[in-house]
Amino acid sequence: DFNQFVNEIKNIPNLEVLLRSAEHKRYSRDFYEYSPVLKEELAGCCADLVVRPLSVDAVISVAQICQAFQIPLTLRGAGTGNYGQCVPLQGGVVMLMTSLTQIRNFDSQTGEVTVEAGCLLIDLNRFLISKGRQLRLLPSTWRTASVAGFIAGGSGGIGSVRWGFLRDPGHLLGLEIVTLEESPRKIQLNAKPAEALNHAYGTNGIITSLKLSTCPNVDWQEVTIDCADFYEAVKLFKTCNQVAVNLFLCSLLENKIVESLPTWSGNPAGKHRLLLLVEPDGISTLERLSKSVGADFYHLGSEQEKVGNGLRELTWNHTTMHMRGVNSDWTYLQMLLPQPEIDLINTLSRKWGQNILWHLEAVRQQGDQRIAALPLVRWQGKDNLEQLINECKELGAIIFNPHVITVEDGGLGVIDSEQVKAKREYDPKGILNPGKLKGWI
Ligand code: FAD
Repeated sequence: DFNQFVNEIKNIPNLEVLLRSAEHKRYSRDFYEYSPVLKEELAGCCADLVVRPLSVDAVISVAQICQAFQIPLTLRGAGTGNYGQCVPLQGGVVMLMTSLTQIRNFDSQTGEVTVEAGCLLIDLNRFLISKGRQLRLLPSTWRTASVAGFIAGGSGGIGSVRWGFLRDPGHLLGLEIVTLEESPRKIQLNAKPAEALNHAYGTNGIITSLKLSTCPNVDWQEVTIDCADFYEAVKLFKTCNQVAVNLFLCSLLENKIVESLPTWSGNPAGKHRLLLLVEPDGISTLERLSKSVGADFYHLGSEQEKVGNGLRELTWNHTTMHMRGVNSDWTYLQMLLPQPEIDLINTLSRKWGQNILWHLEAVRQQGDQRIAALPLVRWQGKDNLEQLINECKELGAIIFNPHVITVEDGGLGVIDSEQVKAKREYDPKGILNPGKLKGWI
């Protein structure tokens, strides 16, 4: 049966079929190894076949044949996810979406852009800048990640200080999807029904194109501020978010993390470091506020004039990546801190000492300025990690657990009935990315 399946797949026009087992292995993993728990859990998962469609029609044909043979189908963008999101738990086909890259439409009145699923965020953003616009939200992997992978798997990142998170209404304005119904077809969804596919790990529809909102382009300036005292640093971090300056990024790294950053990051180390992207007219205010508390202020210049990596690549989960580059014993957690944030930080630091290092990100959460934390955690086994997670929850943090594979467990832990409803409608046989939507399993 599987041979017949492969033969039918091979007959699809505009479809590359990758048959080598090395390629199957390569495209069956993402960056889940940041979690020792997932590393163990997902090690053996492998696709039976990998395909790369060059047209939307080819996507529909793959869907039709997978549906006819009841073969699992898992979508993959650039494969930079952290939770094994595009790992085929039950084998079957992995479909690489990265050859669908066209920017289909740009509305110069509204700034809305319609783009195919596999377009890289860097290419999309470059196009938008040429039109005087830019993306509102980007992951720190914005140079390598695809736009549909970000919507289906990401949550926020650079820009979240101003624009909140991807699932907030207003970012995703519509989708074109291919369904896995009895007769797979291409359909258009406007903003409301599209919400059910936003951050659903590709479990309830194949995204072929997306309509997104954008914002005016700003010549963001890179600024770092170093503070000798951590509590002063947290206070200044909060102040930066309360004053009338336009920020696109505001991160705080504890000095032990700063020590481990790559050398291009603006060392000397030793102090706790704020990393900011700020509009030009906010620089003097940040400088004045920093100097008034004895902090060292550095204006590194315009981000757009820089070649290669910038401050962005030191923040969000890139911080975790750099720390793991130094010592792979580090893993991490993700949480929204309760207020006042310093209480939780103090309590956990007292108990866990140097086994937890603080990395904070300013975010907008349902309209309020809040602080998210992505602390580095020294791996001391699963029980230890669970204990830490429980302590964070008891202290009032909302955990977004990066050590689990389901959509729900990585989020608020609750089943989203709209996501399940969309799966029932668009993938009634459960062919897409099986095992990832808890409300369906
Ligand atoms: P993939 O990993 O390929 O896929 C992600 C999910 O989307 C999978 O479930 C996949 O099945 C699904 N999917 C892919 N294409 C489609 C499609 N066409 N239709 C339906 N479903 C689809 N994430 C953030 O949100 N913010 C960050 O700041 C951030 N920083 C990171 C830093 C590092 C160092 C690393 C390793 C990861 C980081 N991530 C971050 C996670 C990840 O890089 C991003 O979410 C990224 O946008 C995922 O895009 P991708 O193309 O790599 O998606």
